[in-house]
Amino acid sequence: MMRHFQHYIDGRFDDADATFPSIDPATGEHWAMMPEARSADVDRAVEAAHRALHTGAWPSMTPTARGKLLMRLADLTATNAQALAEVETQDTGKIIRETSAQIAYVADYYAYYGGLADKIEGAHLPIDKHDMEVWIRREPVGVVAAIVPWNSQLFLAAVKLGPALAAGCTVVLKASEDGPAPLLEFAHLVHDAGFPPGVVNIITGFGDDCGAALTRHPKVAHVAFTGGRATARHIVRNSAENLASTSLELGGKSPFVVFADADLDSAANAQVAGIFAAAGQSCVAGSRLIIEASVKQRFLAILKAKAEAVRMGPPHDPETEVGPLCTDRQRRLIESVVDASIAAGAGLVTGGRAPDRPGFYFPPTILDCDNIAASATTTELFGPVLSVVSFHTEEQAVELANSTPFGLAAGVFTQNLSRAHRMIKRITAGVVWVNTYRAVSPIAPFGGYGMSGHGREGGLAAALDYTRTKTVWLRTSDDPIPDPFVMR
Ligand code: NAD
Repeated sequence: MMRHFQHYIDGRFDDADATFPSIDPATGEHWAMMPEARSADVDRAVEAAHRALHTGAWPSMTPTARGKLLMRLADLTATNAQALAEVETQDTGKIIRETSAQIAYVADYYAYYGGLADKIEGAHLPIDKHDMEVWIRREPVGVVAAIVPWNSQLFLAAVKLGPALAAGCTVVLKASEDGPAPLLEFAHLVHDAGFPPGVVNIITGFGDDCGAALTRHPKVAHVAFTGGRATARHIVRNSAENLASTSLELGGKSPFVVFADADLDSAANAQVAGIFAAAGQSCVAGSRLIIEASVKQRFLAILKAKAEAVRMGPPHDPETEVGPLCTDRQRRLIESVVDASIAAGAGLVTGGRAPDRPGFYFPPTILDCDNIAASATTTELFGPVLSVVSFHTEEQAVELANSTPFGLAAGVFTQNLSRAHRMIKRITAGVVWVNTYRAVSPIAPFGGYGMSGHGREGGLAAALDYTRTKTVWLRTSDDPIPDPFVMR
């Protein structure tokens, strides 16, 4: 039986004019029909968000009351985490072990921003004029278009919805056309939490139609985007129509630097988490191992053993550690880059070939790319493929780590404290993990340098990004205004 999902606009669930099928990545079969929002649906959603921003219950609600709605959403997310996880696993192939843990944690993001809603403060200024009171109000930036890619949609939506709603904005959230089911299902929790109609609208559709109509819409004030670099460029061009502000969370080719003095077994576990967890479909995947030459062979032996012990299998099986990739397109890209890298001289340490079974599987793969120009060291693959290069000096390690236009995240493994501090300063990335990898928290800002985008998600700063300031001048003197031709 095909499942049938609806979109959520202006507080109502309904069908779009068009639909499209969603594919189960574990089998390659259609399993559900999705509502395909086109420009008329997008317009309806943005108009609803715009109305909700200016009229009805939302604009007159106190920040504390807004926060309580977010807390209710947090509770509902926690209660329904397992059901949401099953839908996400079905539609994206992400393993159930990860979806259930991640969605339970997504609830904490809503709770964090629920608590923050009434702590977004303005300021009173010690102004240099004796008869004036001047203060700054923080007001919601307006209607937000939130656009997410297919990996971790519930998580990537929470880091946008949480701060935007805490700040008093209204949102049109576009789920990816690949694996949109978890967000369409989540819309029921938004509804049950009691947000006024139009405050949160959840749709899905294709980028060049639904996405373009949303980012070009004259009533959208801010676009919060997570996805690829090429799409980000379209979005910036489209948002220029309306001069909407943007925050861009893009891809990475993150370095994972291991010095000879590191605890190699622990670093290898972190490397497995960094590149094979979520089948490498993670923006922060530590996809470039940069290893001190003197321990390269020892480290690769540990890593190879761990990679070959990884259990690849159906995503719904709680024992599975690596499931299928989300799309066949993704698997074909990975295969072609791995083949080209081997042809260019990369040594295949393990993996490298898709298994002969239905579904979009690709095994944990390690490529020794020392001293060769292999595309596996430069292309963001979004898959379980690790390229390896070695270094002799700390200077070389820094150079290799920074030899990418991306700058999302980096890992450094060493027991030497002063070296760790030097590396932290010199690596050009928005997040540096030392002796750990892939840790996140609602309390900590997250975002990239360079081609990994701009803007930060997480923490207080993210909520402030969804506000704009209004400076208020109030004259306290009853005397008539003196010389009107002199600026005071
Ligand atoms: P993508 O850029 O192809 O798609 C992302 C979203 O943008 C989808 O919802 C898509 O429909 C929409 N879109 C496409 N064209 C559009 C257009 N012209 N206008 C408006 N919207 C449009 O990305 P993807 O392949 O689905 O996801 C993988 C990418 O996402 C990788 O580069 C990955 O690193 C990145 N990512 C980044 C982070 C982060 O936080 N930095 C997190 C996860 C994923």
